[in-house]
Amino acid sequence: MAAMSESNDTGAWPGEGLADALAGNISALFGSAVLDSCPTAGGVSDFADRLHALIAQSLTTARGAATQDAGLEPVLDTPVHCAAVEAVTAASLRFPASWVVRGRTVPLKVVSNGKPRGGSYFPPASTPRFDGLGTKPAGEGWALVSRDPGNALHEYVHHLQAVMPDVDRLFQELHRRRTARPDGTRDPVTRFGRHDSTGRKGRYVDEYFGREYDRTLLQDLGYDPNFPALEVMPRAFQLLFHKLPGKDGIDLHHLASDDPEMLDLMLGLLFHYDPA
Ligand SMILES: [Zn+2]
Repeated sequence: MAAMSESNDTGAWPGEGLADALAGNISALFGSAVLDSCPTAGGVSDFADRLHALIAQSLTTARGAATQDAGLEPVLDTPVHCAAVEAVTAASLRFPASWVVRGRTVPLKVVSNGKPRGGSYFPPASTPRFDGLGTKPAGEGWALVSRDPGNALHEYVHHLQAVMPDVDRLFQELHRRRTARPDGTRDPVTRFGRHDSTGRKGRYVDEYFGREYDRTLLQDLGYDPNFPALEVMPRAFQLLFHKLPGKDGIDLHHLASDDPEMLDLMLGLLFHYDPA
């Protein structure tokens, strides 16, 4: 269950004042009067939709989004798996050209698992965890994409996270700050009600942000076990571009109203960070 304010249940935009403040930040990033120049035709009138459109448009013009091929490959040459490749390719078009180019430095194979939840596995692990599809060779990333359109983007961000660890560290440091207590201890690890997983809930719009992975599993899959909060970055970018499935409509405007720090971090990175 998300740590949301009750006002979100009304479906109303939770803070006009915040919208103004956010517009100020966006203007500082992109130039003046950018929100006024957002597309409003075709029913795009909601603030979150306008902000989505603004971000996508600005990333294209300022950061070369949608100019690079992510170079993805299907695991199996069948329509359902090729559709999964198309979904992840479409997700990659959201991101700065330099990020997609960096993503190509590690091969990413894509498979549809046809399930409600996806998954990702990255080098150097060699693992047989692929639902009868064999063993993932070391040195390849594999993304298992679910039926949810936002999941394709989520799994692609897991790939970006693996090839841009410096960016992931920023999200993991944020997680550490949010789960730190004044006495020097941290919030306890608890089991999440709607997932077969554990983590520290922190103060996020959706508890899945705070999932932490088991050290042994992280080592087996080739991740640094000292940074177990691998869902913060993918969940954040998923929410930047997609409404969360099965989450009572949690959307970008909830992030903007309840977690502007997360939004600031993502926008700052999207518009100013390039891998070395
Ligand atoms: Zn994930």
